[in-house]
Amino acid sequence: MAYWEENVRKVEPYVPGEQPKVKNIIKLNTNENPYGPSPKVSKAVFDFDSLRKYPDPAVTLLVEKLAEYHNTTKDRVFVGVGSDDVIAMAFMTFFNSDKPVLFPDITYSFYPVWANMLGIKYETIPVDKDFNIIKEDYYRENGGIIFPNPNAPTSKLVSRDFIIDILKANKDSVVIIDEAYIDFAKEGSSIIDLTEEYENLLCVRTFSKSRSLAGMRIGYAVGNAKLIKYMNDVKYSYNSYTMNTPSILYGVASVEDDAYFKETVKKIVDTREKFVKEIESMGFIVLPSAANFVFAKYPGRDAVDIFDEAKKNGIYFRYFDQDRIRDYLRITIGTDEEMDKVIDFFKSYL
Ligand code: PMP
Repeated sequence: MAYWEENVRKVEPYVPGEQPKVKNIIKLNTNENPYGPSPKVSKAVFDFDSLRKYPDPAVTLLVEKLAEYHNTTKDRVFVGVGSDDVIAMAFMTFFNSDKPVLFPDITYSFYPVWANMLGIKYETIPVDKDFNIIKEDYYRENGGIIFPNPNAPTSKLVSRDFIIDILKANKDSVVIIDEAYIDFAKEGSSIIDLTEEYENLLCVRTFSKSRSLAGMRIGYAVGNAKLIKYMNDVKYSYNSYTMNTPSILYGVASVEDDAYFKETVKKIVDTREKFVKEIESMGFIVLPSAANFVFAKYPGRDAVDIFDEAKKNGIYFRYFDQDRIRDYLRITIGTDEEMDKVIDFFKSYL
């Protein structure tokens, strides 16, 4: 190995779901939204010539729009390039202790990647045999806590009270709740309002799922103004212009169309409920889902075989070759027509 290579920062990267180049497939592998973004997004015009200028580093238009949407103030909102960027910034900002950051063993697989890259000590806490997070396991000294709610890839939701208990037991560290999929959970599940009460709570959201803007890369966090200020200090020490001009304007247009947002979220939830019933009646075991995907297994069949065969039939699921979840497939909820085709495939395959 050349000397320079010995000094390279060697990291084990996160592996994103496949984005196949082939057309006409049923793509249910990366939890995208089957409906397009709000048509109002396509009408959001930006002056093409304005692209010669740097974007607004404070992302003011979108920060203000989100503050209004969440009935809060703009000093409590941070916007980034997808929630991946927001969470990475939060890891850099808040997880800086000798004590380990805690997160579940089965969770978003990017968390250990950021921790390893940034040299952050962490411990994974096993979820129970039914994939439940056990709150008491988080009642101990730590350098921070993060988990998604609903969790990924299990799709399981914990209650607000559950999170309040974790917050009460953890006043000395920052608790991050990653609400990437919360819009697909029953109303009242979000803890975003609790950021008013708990100064150490950060709630992270994304436009990639419920707002169908994965391609624009927009995510945000809501929290106490002090938390947001610390995150901005780190952001401005790293890259001031994370958000490009079109993203900012498209993001604003999306938030303005609440009716479309609610209608498409409802369609996905309805399709999910119908799909779950159908595949359960075929013998699948499906975890209770509060997300735009389901986590399911078919007893007696290897998930990887179903995954491979589906792919040959132009249907893409996500399979994790990982302890404890090797039997499961993660299936994004598409349109009714797409899910009917999935059911037809299951019928002929099984
Ligand atoms: N959190 C969770 C739990 C996710 O599944 C994802 C999607 N991969 C993200 C965050 C990141 O989403 P995005 O960067 O598109 O906002």
